[in-house]
Amino acid sequence: MPDRITKEQRSRNMSHIKSKDTSIELLVRKYLYHHGFRYKKNVRSLPGTPDIVLEKYHTVIFINGCFWHHHDNCKYAVMPKTRKEYWVKKINRNVDNDVKHYNQLRRLGYKVITVWECEIKEAFEGRMKLLIEEITE
Ligand SMILES: [Zn+2]
Repeated sequence: MPDRITKEQRSRNMSHIKSKDTSIELLVRKYLYHHGFRYKKNVRSLPGTPDIVLEKYHTVIFINGCFWHHHDNCKYAVMPKTRKEYWVKKINRNVDNDVKHYNQLRRLGYKVITVWECEIKEAFEGRMKLLIEEITE
C-alpha cells in the first residue's frame, strides 16, 4: 500500500517540524500509566507547560525533541545548512526558555526531569526504568 507508506513518511517528516512530538510523549505517558503513576499533562499553570506533572512526587517531566531543545552532541540536533542563522537564533531562544523554566520550577519545589526524543527512540525500556528511579528516588 504505497499510500500508507507515504503517510508514515509524511508524519515522520512532520515530527521534525512540530515543536512537540506527541507520539513520543504518548509512549512515556502510557508507560508511566501502566506502572501505576497518575499525572496531569500539559499543565499550563506551571512554567514552561510541563508535559507531565506528578504532584505526588513533586516532579515534572519534559519530553524534549532533540532538535527543538538542542540536545548537545545528538545526531538529531544538527542544524540545517540552509538559513542556519535563523535556526540557531530560534533554537537558542528555546534553550534559554528551557533553562529559565526549569529554574522557576525548581524554585517552586519541583524535581525537573528531561527525557530526550533520542532516548525514547533508541533506548526506550532502559530510559523508562531510569525515569521511574528518578521519579521515586
Ligand atoms: Zn537527542
